[in-house]
Amino acid sequence: MRKSEPSWASRSRNSTGGRWLRLAAATVAVALFGAILTGGGQPPSGATSLPADPPVAGQRAICFPPAQGAKPKTFAAGGIVIWSDAPVNGRELVAHLQKVRRHLRSAVAATQPATASMPADNDRRPVALAVYRTRRDYLRLWKRVGAHYRGRFGAIAAEGYSYRVFCATSYDSPEAFAKRRPVICHEFAHVWLYQTHGLRNDGNWLTEAMANAAQLHFFPDSGDRADFLRWMDAGKMIPLKRLMSMPRIASSDYWQAATLGELLLLRYRDKLPAVIQAFNRGDSAYAIVTKVLKTDLATFERQWADHVRRSARPATTRPR
Ligand SMILES: [Zn+2]
Repeated sequence: MRKSEPSWASRSRNSTGGRWLRLAAATVAVALFGAILTGGGQPPSGATSLPADPPVAGQRAICFPPAQGAKPKTFAAGGIVIWSDAPVNGRELVAHLQKVRRHLRSAVAATQPATASMPADNDRRPVALAVYRTRRDYLRLWKRVGAHYRGRFGAIAAEGYSYRVFCATSYDSPEAFAKRRPVICHEFAHVWLYQTHGLRNDGNWLTEAMANAAQLHFFPDSGDRADFLRWMDAGKMIPLKRLMSMPRIASSDYWQAATLGELLLLRYRDKLPAVIQAFNRGDSAYAIVTKVLKTDLATFERQWADHVRRSARPATTRPR
C-alpha cells in the first residue's frame, strides 16, 4: 500500500547521469522524509466486520462495472489476470508479474495454509490487476471498493494502490505507465501475500518489507542504496523493534522496511513462512525475533545495519 507517492517519473533513469542522480536523490528524499500529503483512510479491517472478498467475477464487476458499459480487455496466464481499457501490452505485463510471483513464491517457499479467515481456495485464485486508461477512472474504483467493504477510502494520491484482493493503477500515457512499473510490482506483491498467506495489506511492517524488497529486486533504480546508508548513519532510520511494533509504518519508513525484507530473505529465508504465521497470530516483534528467528534484537539490528552498509557499496567491491 502506498499512501502518498513521490513522482515516480523522476526516479527513472535519465540519459544524463548527473541530472538523474540529482533528481533521484531529491525524489528519494521525498520518499523517505516527505510528509504524507493526503489521508488515505482505510475501511475497517477487522475480519469479523468486513464483508467477504468478492469472487473473481464480482471483483471484475467492481473494477469495470458492466452497467457502465465497461468493456475491458482481459489478459490472463498462470494465475495472473489483467483487466484494462488502456492500450497496455498485457501479455508482456502478465509475463513480468509471473516473474514477480515466482520470486515471491521462492521467498516463502514452505507455504503454510492461509489463515482461517481466508477462503480455502484462495491460493488458486488469480491475482488481478486493473489498469485504467485515465486517472479519473482509477480513482473512481476506490469508491466502489470502499462501498463493497462498507468502508470509505480517503483521498488516494498514489499512482498505484492495493487493498485486499484489489490492485490498480492508471495508464494515462505510455511514458507515465512505463514509470509506474515499480508501483505495479509493489502492489501486486501486497495482494499476492494477502491472497496466499493471509498477510494483511494495511501498511504493516512485514507486508511493506516484502513489497518494497520485491520492488527493489525488480527495479533497483527505484531506490538509492547510498542514501539508505547515509540515512542510517545519520540516525534517520528507527530501531527495528519500534518499526516492527508499529501497526502501520509511514511511507518515510518504506526503504528501511525494504532493507529489513532483504535481510529476512538473505539470512532467514527458511523461516519466512513462520514469520508470516507469527505475525498473523499477532506475535510481538520480540517474540518473532527471539522465538522464530532464534536470535536477539541486538544481533538482528546489527545484521540489518551490516546489510544496509554492505549493499550500499558498488557491486564490484561487495564481498561474495
Ligand atoms: Zn506498500
